[in-house]
Parts: sequence; structure tokens; C-alpha cells
Amino acid sequence: MKHESGSISINTENIFPIIKKWLYSEKDIFIRELVSNASDAISKMKKLDVMGEAELPEGNKFEIKVIVNKNDKTIKVIDNGLGMTEEEVKKYINQIAFSGAVDFLEKYKDKSDDGQIIGHFGLGFYSAFMVSQRVQIDTLSYQKDAAAVRWVSDGGTEFEMSDSDKSERGTTITLYLSDDSLEFTEEYTMRTTLEKYFAFLPYELYLEDAAKVEEKKEETKEEEKEGDEKEVTEPKKPEPLNDTQPLWLKNPKDCTDEDYKKFYSKVFHDFNEPLFWIHLNMDYPFNLKGILYFPKLKHEFETNEGQIKLYYNQVFVADNIKEVIPEFLLLLKGVLDCPDLPLNVSRSFLQNDGYVNKISTHITKKVADKLTSIFENDRESYNKYWDDINPFVKYGCLREEKFYDRVKDVLIFKSTKGGYTTLKEYLENNKDKHENKVFYVSDENQQAQYIKLFNENGMEAVILSNMIDNHFMSLLESKGTGLQFNRIDADISESMKQENTGIPEADVSYLEGLFKETVNDEKLKIQVESLKNETIPAVVLLSEQSRRMQEMSKM
Ligand code: ADP
Ligand code: MG
Repeated sequence: MKHESGSISINTENIFPIIKKWLYSEKDIFIRELVSNASDAISKMKKLDVMGEAELPEGNKFEIKVIVNKNDKTIKVIDNGLGMTEEEVKKYINQIAFSGAVDFLEKYKDKSDDGQIIGHFGLGFYSAFMVSQRVQIDTLSYQKDAAAVRWVSDGGTEFEMSDSDKSERGTTITLYLSDDSLEFTEEYTMRTTLEKYFAFLPYELYLEDAAKVEEKKEETKEEEKEGDEKEVTEPKKPEPLNDTQPLWLKNPKDCTDEDYKKFYSKVFHDFNEPLFWIHLNMDYPFNLKGILYFPKLKHEFETNEGQIKLYYNQVFVADNIKEVIPEFLLLLKGVLDCPDLPLNVSRSFLQNDGYVNKISTHITKKVADKLTSIFENDRESYNKYWDDINPFVKYGCLREEKFYDRVKDVLIFKSTKGGYTTLKEYLENNKDKHENKVFYVSDENQQAQYIKLFNENGMEAVILSNMIDNHFMSLLESKGTGLQFNRIDADISESMKQENTGIPEADVSYLEGLFKETVNDEKLKIQVESLKNETIPAVVLLSEQSRRMQEMSKM
């Protein structure tokens, strides 16, 4: 029986951002919205049960099912959450952009916490019309004596409401797809999309391909007609697509190294083991859960391309959102679940949000703490990790002063004497030979002769050969009073020369002439000395200053 028809009232204040997103977003977000609503409906039902406002039938098992059907060009999203009464459909569906989630939280806000409600981070139910020519809702509320309602709309502004034959609690959304969106009836496409957003949804999520099921039925009928003997096979128990209890929500005490490694390779499809990880598990003063992994570098001279996946109550939102995560952390790999994020606002707003700043600061501190703790408790491992993590640490120091302040004492350098040294250790160990000076090697092959000279003279240099090291040295120089980095070929020290070797004047001027002529440069500066090492006839020296000038102008 027809109950009502009418126009959907549009809250003009909210429609503009919706339409904008509509135009720019990925088409597949309609499924993110509908399954999120299904999940919210279950969360609400659960909460009503916990609060004693509703009673669940014995053996109740919450689940969400998506059924694609190529034959009739439909997609169904079915949940057994709280359902809606006729009044609620009018209120929550007929008024575009009127968020029932807000209403729900308002109503129950004093009674319990508001965790787990996903609503409200996208354009919501109406995104269904991005892919459909007709949308139908069949819903039966948990409330006593509620009648099932059907709501149908062709295009999103006119609707009709009538009785529905739905007999079980919950909601079924049926999308009659437009011809340009039929790809979503492909099981593979739908599976990939669902896995992207809902791999960690808190309730079991199933996908069914109705066209395939129909095909199978036909086959069996045919076979029965032909009288073939058929082995009786148990129908396979369907598997949910998702892991309802992702590792990041568990207590770190209950997670083994194996768990962390397995989770890493599953989520990032990276079969190199991560070096180490940080499990973020914070409830107060804000809710932040997640795991950050330090990956192994793939190539020696390449900084990592990381990936930080952002979740909102176990629903995937996006990768690498710069506004939420400090940029240098994007070199890591990880998952973050921040249910307190104000995701319904625009990204540019996020940048100025106090909560986002707090998240950022907290994560930065946790990363610095982790590095410090490994340095202090397991220096051997720390040294081993350094080649892989140093571009990340240095980049962090350059980008965030707070990070630099926290890790400045655990910055280490590979030494030409073997092993690794901190800046403090280096300066202390070499203070008799030179003060406040650090010699470094930027290319171990090219500067092999100098390294040899250094070794013979008991001198020490550190290896700084990454792209980022020029900037990093400048940073350290700006922090340490009078600290100066000198490339190993900037000069030779007195200790490398033979003492009191009077070289005849004639030899000196002969050598000077020879060199100037050979390189064809009258202004070339030539120093004639006798090195202790007699196998090295000559070295080219380049003052630190002029070399840096040259490099700067090259850039
Ligand atoms: P939001 O989820 O942000 O509240 P939506 O547009 O997605 O906004 O949904 C509007 C409202 O419609 C929801 O808040 C909810 O009250 C109702 N609703 C939508 N889908 C369902 C569902 N599957 N079960 C019960 N209620 C639903
Ligand atoms: Mg929603």
C-alpha cells in the first residue's frame, strides 16, 4: 500500500560540499557509504542491547552482506542492524544531509561513549545515486510492533513510500544500477573495492555473486535431468572478507613479533621483513591506535616510499594524508586509526585543527622515544638498523625541530675506523687532533686515498654519503657552536707530513711549473711537501668552503 510520496527537502547549507565531492570523488565511495551505514546500524543495535533498550534474539549474529547480480543489474547491501521505522525513514532519508548519526549521538550522549559510529565522514546515503537510476530501501525496525517500510526513489529528488515484505530486522538497500556503472556487478571489482575499505570492519562482511549462484542452480538442474550421478559435496562455508579484530586494536602485550610481521606483509604486500615497529595504543586524552613500521630500504641510495593508511573506526579513509601525519613519517609504513578525527570537514581545515596537531606531536614523540630506547638498550641492533633508517631520521630532523631535539643524542655516524659513533663520542675521541671539527667522506671509492692517509695517521672520519647529508650537516653546524664539517680531502694535517724535509727550491719550482702546465691553469695553488706515505705521490685538495659554494651553485 502506498503511504506517501513527495520531494526530498534539501538543506541548502549542506548540499554544496556534497555536490562538489560528488563531482570529484571516486565513484566507488558509494559502497563505502552504504556499508558504513550498515555497520553503524549494527553498532547502534549493539549499543541498544547493552543499554537494555532492546533485546537481541537468541543466537543473534551480526553480519553485513553485499550481493551483486549481473543479470538484473542490481547490488544489494543487507544488514541486520536496528532498522528504521517509517518515521525514521522520513526523518533521516527524506531530509538530505540530515545526519541521523548526529541525532543518535545527541540522544544517547550521556548514556555511553560514542565509539564505533562511523557515520558522517562522507556524503552519505545519497552517494547511492552516483551509480544508480533507482534506489530502494526495505527496512524493519527492531522496535516492537514496527511495520516494514519500503522507500523508492528514481534519481534522488522524488520518493515513494509503501509497505515492504521485509520480515527480518534490519535494512536492505537495493541499487538498480545505471548503465555506466555496471562494472560494480562484477564480483572481482566489488571484492577489490570492499577489501580496500573494509578489510578491518568490526562486523563480518560477506560478498555473494547472485548471477553465479543462479548459474550453478541451472547446471544442477541440467545434470539432474540428464540423470548424471553426482558426488554429494558439502557446500563451502562462506568466508567473511574482513578481519574483524585488526592487530592494532589488540593490547600490545598480547601481540607477538610474528603477529606484527604477518600483519605487515599482509597489509603492505612487502615480503621484506620490517626492521622494527611501534604500536600506538592510546585512549586518553584522545583516541589513537595504530602500528608504524620501519621498513628495510630497497635500494641503498634511495629513500623509502612509505605508506600510511588512515582508518576511521576500522574503515579505510585514504593513504598518506599529509594534513594529519607529519610529512617525514610518510617514509614509514603503517596503519593509523583515529576515530576522533573531524573527517567531515575539508582537508585544509584539518591542517589547523588542534586535535590533528596533537596527533602529530604524539606520534613524533613516540617515534623519537622508540629510537632512543633501542639506542640505549640495544646499541648493536641500533647500529645495524642505521643504514636503513638514517635517511628517515635525518629528514625528520630537518623537517621538525621538535623531532631533532628529541633524537639529537642518538644520531650516529658510520666511522672510517669501523663501527658507529655519535657526534659527542667523535669529538671526544679526536679532541687532541682537532677541536670542533668533523671530517667526513662523501664517496668511499673516490676518496679512498685520503681514507688511507687518515687511517695511517690514526685519524677518524665519518661517512656521510647520502643525498640528504649536505643539508643534514648544515643543520648540525647551525646547532653546534663552532662545529664544522670538513670533507676528508679539504686539507692534509701536519701529522701526515714528513718533518724537516728540506726540498730544494729548484724541485719546488719545477713541480709547480709541471702541474700548472699539465692542467693548464696558472692560478692553481700547489703545495710541495713530503708525505709520510711514500706510495701516494700527490693529492688534490679542495677547500670545504669553495666546494660547498660550487655544489650550491650546481643545485
Ligand atoms: P550519516 O551516516 O552520516 O548519518 P547518511 O546519509 O549515510 O548519513 O545516513 C543518514 C541516516 O540514515 C543515518 O544516520 C541513519 O539514521 C539512516 N540510515 C542509513 N542507512 C541505514 C541503515 N542501513 N540502517 C539504519 N539506518 C540507516
Ligand atoms: Mg553514513
